[in-house]
Amino acid sequence: THFGFQTVEEHEKARKVGEVFHSVARKYDLMNDVMSAGLHRTWKRFAVEISGVKAGDRVLDVAGGSGDLSRLFSRKVGSEGTVVLTDINASMLGVGRDRLMDEGVAVPALQCDAEKLPFPDQHFDCVIVAFGLRNMTHKDRALAEMHRVLKTGGRLLVLEFSQVWKPLAPLYDAYSFKLLPLMGKLLAQDAASYQYLAESIRMHPDQETLKQMMLDAGFGKVDYYNLSAGVVALHKGWKT
Ligand code: SAM
Repeated sequence: THFGFQTVEEHEKARKVGEVFHSVARKYDLMNDVMSAGLHRTWKRFAVEISGVKAGDRVLDVAGGSGDLSRLFSRKVGSEGTVVLTDINASMLGVGRDRLMDEGVAVPALQCDAEKLPFPDQHFDCVIVAFGLRNMTHKDRALAEMHRVLKTGGRLLVLEFSQVWKPLAPLYDAYSFKLLPLMGKLLAQDAASYQYLAESIRMHPDQETLKQMMLDAGFGKVDYYNLSAGVVALHKGWKT
């Protein structure tokens, strides 16, 4: 193909994800709050609470976008520790970095692809990817990279939309395929990006499948928590 190792479909997905996040970057925080009724803040705080991260640790925020997790983790690791904010998308990273700087939170911000992390082996105590894995073209490669950069004993946290409790599925589908694009249109003048969001949630592996993918990537033990009836799941994998 013209795209090296990528097939045309893979290149198309990466291009579309790039466009979507470039287009939503400035309204991203507002939309997150509106669409989740503020719940994304609780999900993120829960992830940080169960991470086992302590003062002095090294944390990597993959696909960190607007920097919410980097901010929370920087409080945990304190001045002795390090948090690195990364994202593939310059617009998202720019918004996140500027916002953290305005708030007096000093974290290095690096533009990079989760499938090729520019860090040495065994470097971080904890890696988190929140609402980012879903958008990656080769999730297996990204998981293997996150495993590689973790120290033995380190943890990967994957916070991601997942399979909702069955009785709620019709209601949730109506919300994501009807209301979500409408809100995107009204609040961000961008129905298409929010249509993509709904589709990408439906395509994403369910709780057990993702657990198996993490085991396949080399994690010795993987647990998960269903949050808000499985609208979101938090997977925690240990490098053993
Ligand atoms: N983690 C943030 C949060 O929870 O608010 C941002 C999540 S946002 C929905 C998804 C992010 O994934 C976007 O900023 C996008 O640029 C990033 N992303 C998509 N594919 C990526 C890749 N291959 N490597 C790194 N980041 C990626």
